[in-house]
Amino acid sequence: MFDVKELQTSNLELQIINMSFQNNLEFARDLDAKDVLKSFRQHFFIPQHEGKDCVYFTGNSLGLQAKTTSEYVQQELDDWARLGVEGHFQAKNPWMPYHEIFPKQLSKIVGCRENEVVVMNSLTVNLHLLMVTFYRPTKQRYKIICEAKAFPSDQYAFETQAKYHGFDPADAVIEVAPREGEYILRTEDIISTIQQHNDSVAVVLFGGINYYTGQLFDMKAITAAAHAVGAYAGFDLAHAAGNVELHLHDWQVDFACWCSYKYLNSSPGGIAGAYIHEKHAADTTLPRFAGWWGYKKDTRFKMEKGFEAIPTAEGWQLSNAPVLLMAAHKASLDIFEAAGMDRLHTKRKRLAAYLHFILHDINDRQPEKVIEIITPADEKERGCQVSMLMLQRGKEIFDALTKQGVVADWREPNVIRVAPVPLYNSFEDIYRFGEIIRSILK
Ligand SMILES: *Cc1c(COP(=O)(O)O)cnc(C)c1O
Repeated sequence: MFDVKELQTSNLELQIINMSFQNNLEFARDLDAKDVLKSFRQHFFIPQHEGKDCVYFTGNSLGLQAKTTSEYVQQELDDWARLGVEGHFQAKNPWMPYHEIFPKQLSKIVGCRENEVVVMNSLTVNLHLLMVTFYRPTKQRYKIICEAKAFPSDQYAFETQAKYHGFDPADAVIEVAPREGEYILRTEDIISTIQQHNDSVAVVLFGGINYYTGQLFDMKAITAAAHAVGAYAGFDLAHAAGNVELHLHDWQVDFACWCSYKYLNSSPGGIAGAYIHEKHAADTTLPRFAGWWGYKKDTRFKMEKGFEAIPTAEGWQLSNAPVLLMAAHKASLDIFEAAGMDRLHTKRKRLAAYLHFILHDINDRQPEKVIEIITPADEKERGCQVSMLMLQRGKEIFDALTKQGVVADWREPNVIRVAPVPLYNSFEDIYRFGEIIRSILK
């Protein structure tokens, strides 16, 4: 289905050609023609607007459906119809160990060992479950250090976890905010906050990428700073998994969780993932909320009293796993595997660079700056997403974009978030996006 040999040759070509960008349709189409991943767009359903493909820039919110998804899900529906309960063992992909197929692919996406990753539940559920293990506050050590403007669900998790343990969130939850007049966090400020709170810090818990600004945090440095004061480091990778390079194991990250419906295209509300460093995952004495699917496999069905954990990330599973959601997840991860993470990262950086170029070009042609890009300019500090603070006519521009078939995201008071993703977005998408903004400003 996917011609990987052809991709490898032309990827090399793409790396050799180091071009400077131009803001015109021919140039954008030429970049698409040279794109080694261009055929992957055909494997997705692109939402339509007046008979044409939308410019779909919200893969950071809900990734698109792969055309293979229905076959994967249908397989399980057919096996259920054909086999009933026997499908747990007799299905083409037996349901009982179905979740065991994921660590191989996911470990490459998040950069860890296979025993460190498990698919289960949904994101906020996993965040709570991991906090049950890694946030065990004492009178002395009880603080959670996080980013200001964390995603609301994460804020509610931190607040209620602190309260659950009898602490006042106003005292226990420490938010690191950007400096006056700045939009993104400085790593030095994150580290100095951790140092300042020192042995009162229980856990440092950041997004891998902030959902609002698109800032990619230095997870390695944050983890080292947390460990230096004796705290755990965890990350919510909702906006990072399937987007940027991750090396959770090598960075010594203690735990992480993510959803699969954003960059990982695995269906709305799809099954989520969790990572636990093997030094913790192998420790079956760590406290947790347990269920039978985390129980040692060889003796699980003796159904005896006394929980004994699987000595891997699977030891945090609670319930038998949702096969239909896993089928949708599998359909998407097979595409990631065929595309290859290196090729995806190369194209992602090029798409983001082209979008930054187009937005700067728009500003340069105006008497006064229209768009302030609040996402970091340095490609090492960002992923696909570009967050545009609109200095003039923001809502008017956003509404015109929507009317002309661009699917983007508006955040009050005046930020437009867009995320061109390497699997199905094109350089022409970016050109068209810029062209619509230019025509409004004319
Ligand atoms: C999208 C997102 C969520 C959503 O949580 P669900 O439990 O999947 O509804 C939570 N946290 C962050 C950082 C997100 O970006």
